[in-house]
Amino acid sequence: MSDTTTVTTAVTTAVMFDLDGTLLDHVGASDAAVLDAVAESWLPGRPVAPDEVLAEWARLEALHMGEYLAGTIDFAEQRRRRLRGLLAALGDDRPYDDDGADAAFTAYLSAYEANWRAFDDVEPTLGALARLGVPYAVLTNGDRDQQLAKAATLRLPDGVRVLTPADVGAAKPSATAFTVACESLGWVRDRVLYVGDNPDADARGSRAAGLNACWLNRTDHASPFQPAEGITEIKRLGELVGLLRG
Ligand SMILES: [Mg+2]
Repeated sequence: MSDTTTVTTAVTTAVMFDLDGTLLDHVGASDAAVLDAVAESWLPGRPVAPDEVLAEWARLEALHMGEYLAGTIDFAEQRRRRLRGLLAALGDDRPYDDDGADAAFTAYLSAYEANWRAFDDVEPTLGALARLGVPYAVLTNGDRDQQLAKAATLRLPDGVRVLTPADVGAAKPSATAFTVACESLGWVRDRVLYVGDNPDADARGSRAAGLNACWLNRTDHASPFQPAEGITEIKRLGELVGLLRG
């Protein structure tokens, strides 16, 4: 075990989780939903390459959610831009005004919501935290109503707080998001372990804000971190329990 792991476990008294990609399988739900929407609603009967659809949808999501989180467009507009961008890339030259785009997006949204699932390791890990007496919360980027609806599918115990930029005044990786979240929970930052799948928004962001950081590397990418960054890597959420037991 590295020194980093020892330091992290020695001081952790509470855990804060990211939501998408950490507790909830956003990519699994999004991939299934966009392929369903293309085939059933947007371009029925047209042959498409699924890998290309998924890659373009992921690219457009990162681009336009980034604009939304930066405050340059609203949540509805980031949806419209993703829809128009994907359909243009697939050769659909029909114009979509705002109302048309909003109506078309519902084909994706209903399938996305129907596919919301927790990762298999979530329930046992949260149960173990409860038995250890370690409180936990969720700090997630995104639209508050949608993130609360997603979190509801996880059936978190009563009292587990789910915080969004609307609650804390900033989006991750801003230090404000992490510090205000800790303050609102009454938690001391350097005793909190933040667990998330995004190296920058979650791991580096929380570390820079003075929390302990754990990067959940579900997809088995090579670590982007230097040892001096003091960020612990785990491959499965269940490894967290071993870290906290020390
Ligand atoms: Mg995430």
